[in-house]
Amino acid sequence: MQNASHFYHDLALLDWHIELGADEAIGETPINRYALAPPAPKPEAKPAAKPAPAPLAVVTTAAAPDVFDSTPLAQACKNLEALQIALEGFAHCPLKQGARTTVFSDGNPAARVMIVGEAPGKEEDFEGKPFICRAGKLLDKMFAAIGLSRHEDHPESALYITNLLPWRPPQNRDPSPEEIALMKPFLLRHIELAQPDFIVTMGNPSTKALRDTTLGINKMRGQWGAVLGIPSIPLFHPAYLLRSPELKRLAWEDLLSLKARLEGK
Ligand code: URA
Repeated sequence: MQNASHFYHDLALLDWHIELGADEAIGETPINRYALAPPAPKPEAKPAAKPAPAPLAVVTTAAAPDVFDSTPLAQACKNLEALQIALEGFAHCPLKQGARTTVFSDGNPAARVMIVGEAPGKEEDFEGKPFICRAGKLLDKMFAAIGLSRHEDHPESALYITNLLPWRPPQNRDPSPEEIALMKPFLLRHIELAQPDFIVTMGNPSTKALRDTTLGINKMRGQWGAVLGIPSIPLFHPAYLLRSPELKRLAWEDLLSLKARLEGK
């Protein structure tokens, strides 16, 4: 008999496939499409070598020379609790004045996978937790489909979630280069202290800031690289996927790539 964890995993997978648009059974009997496929033609000549990936462009976040250097403060934090307290008392970012809460993290800090989003929105600012909005619900479904959840205790199946900025920018505008330069040392320390095995950067700002690139998410998604020596993959932000559902297929490819790495493949 199927055990409960298989049941919930299969249910999550089904849920995600429904999100992808596969919400209809269109035939009475399954079709083995592998059996129908004609044999692949033999390649006549050796295929040309893959072109080398384009070099990543240089950082945008360092373009703020007058920004307060928060590195010593961040580096002085010896654990996650100290880092959270340091952020809650940090007085150099004007965003904090307009925010209701400091949104530090959610999930299990022992998780193998750490997600880095952009910044809190209205609901996150209200509740003090990242990704609890509609996009956050989609994020939960996406990761549940590969067996990961922010509510899991076991590091193998857990998620740890934070953002590039801990305070909501007014009207949810994009984080400015100054705000990113100011807050990035805290995020880097957050990663050092959490020590995940894999980092997922969700969307443009966190990918650009952590991967030190000016390339957009359409180019970067699915491209493995490293952040502080930790393997990292950019994914489309779930808010972007809500606006462009046709991209969910690519997001699924990237999730499967993460799953394969988690399984050591
Ligand atoms: N979008 C983000 O990037 N982070 C949140 O916490 C919520 C929405």
